[in-house]
Amino acid sequence: MRRIDKIIIHCSATKEGQHFTVEDIDRWHKARGFAKIGYHHVVYLDGSVHKGRNESLLGAHCLGHNATSVGICYIGGLDENGRPKDTRTDKQNEALTRLVSGLQIKYPKATVHGHNEFAAKACPCFDVKKEFRL
Ligand SMILES: [Zn+2]
Repeated sequence: MRRIDKIIIHCSATKEGQHFTVEDIDRWHKARGFAKIGYHHVVYLDGSVHKGRNESLLGAHCLGHNATSVGICYIGGLDENGRPKDTRTDKQNEALTRLVSGLQIKYPKATVHGHNEFAAKACPCFDVKKEFRL
């Protein structure tokens, strides 16, 4: 197993309320030249969590940090005009908290981050530090 020291949260940068699937993201990422979907877990609007790339495999989601991280993505992140917005549904919020807790048990040394801590991006459009690091 790879050494995991970071859990990095993303949004799909899609508009509020619009449903997309692992298959959609897989298609987008392949179009960008990735082998397959770059995230390890995807949280749908209804709070269901779906597997992307296997956790044992290097992700493709955060330049410079893929080797030792797990990437998770919630569907959303943009308002209806395409501007960054925390669009998480209550169910997505609960699911994210559960997913992150589970990963922290599995990888006790891992710290939780937003993509925007490592890149000049809005992603994941909420303050991960405030919610997941005290
Ligand atoms: Zn991101």
